[in-house]
Amino acid sequence: MNIQEKDKEYIANTYGRFPVTLVSGKGARVKDENGKEYIDLGTGIAVNAFGVGDSEWIEAVTAQLGKIQHTSNLFYSQPCADLAELLCKRTGMKKVFFSNSGAEANETAVKVARKYAAEKKGAEYNTVITLKNSFHGRTISMLAATGQDVFHKDFLPLTEGFVYAEPNNCEDVKKLVGENKVAAIMFETVQGEGGVLPLEKSFVDTLVEIAEKEDILLIVDEVQTGNGRSGALYNYMNYGITPDIVTTAKGIGGGLPLGVAMLGEKVKDTLKPGDHGSTFGGNPVACAGALSIISRIDDKLLSEVREKSEYIFKAFEGAQGVKSVSGAGLMIGIECEKDVGEILSLCRDKGVIAIKAKNKVRLLPPLNIEWSDLKKAVDVLLEAMA
Ligand SMILES: *Cc1c(COP(=O)(O)O)cnc(C)c1O
Repeated sequence: MNIQEKDKEYIANTYGRFPVTLVSGKGARVKDENGKEYIDLGTGIAVNAFGVGDSEWIEAVTAQLGKIQHTSNLFYSQPCADLAELLCKRTGMKKVFFSNSGAEANETAVKVARKYAAEKKGAEYNTVITLKNSFHGRTISMLAATGQDVFHKDFLPLTEGFVYAEPNNCEDVKKLVGENKVAAIMFETVQGEGGVLPLEKSFVDTLVEIAEKEDILLIVDEVQTGNGRSGALYNYMNYGITPDIVTTAKGIGGGLPLGVAMLGEKVKDTLKPGDHGSTFGGNPVACAGALSIISRIDDKLLSEVREKSEYIFKAFEGAQGVKSVSGAGLMIGIECEKDVGEILSLCRDKGVIAIKAKNKVRLLPPLNIEWSDLKKAVDVLLEAMA
């Protein structure tokens, strides 16, 4: 059996994989088993923030591997403490809880919000408002948080206490706040899996107003938008807001699994010993890698991300076969006239990897992609879309 046959035989059939087996790479370039090279605008779904084989990241990770690979949370560990400090200093959040994935980071956020609300307003204040068309993860509770029926069917009953508002519809949120006893509002500032759709600033401002008035917590899911992807360290910064909880994962580990829930002033001490935990969470190797990633997402890198973003928007807006372009920073969705699968396949033939989000081509290139690679890849995409 070749690799793809073996995968189909022995791995649960949950993924619609591309017919490519990736084996190695450097920067924005990845190679398949036949030695064919691609410019990678997918980065393993916004995970390989600095591309493949980034030397500083490898150095940080291997140095930690040479010391100790895992401690459990029964012990202190330097990379975890250093990463927590760096994240708090860069965001103004007060404390962090480490886990291993985006779904877990969001689970943490909901636990914190429910406990805070129960102590402050009463246990019946446990509803979390999320948005329709959102995506928050695959656990039973995060499926419940995800405001898309397609993810729910076949898995009922889901965790109770989630209701869904129409994105960019302030009246809908107000109505749900009136009808429910609400602990928190949780949202992505750009709905990634939902089609790379940014929320309107005025809507987010209204959420802040409602949250302040009703003492409802604001949870911003930055699993995909975070860690430089949006052109700011976290995309809530582009909206000028101060969330109570920020969750992230994907790009922060640079390729190793790491989830983080960052806790603001109101909730920094809500979790007490025994309230929450994780065996792997805050793995020192993943944290050492994350330190190398986050410490390099500085003003210079972020301004390059914004410049490249502008270049991509300009290249595709009004181009032949393109209906619309949306997103933030290097997280971009392109709605095309042609079928997305067909475009992605044409691109792979010509040595470019892009992925999809709903009916759109989704671009998530490495944050430090070389201009020459970016331009080559954009030309291939434009040709495939026309
Ligand atoms: C990917 C994603 C998640 C889920 O992350 P996992 O690491 O797959 O659990 C949650 N929220 C958003 C916004 C995401 O993009």
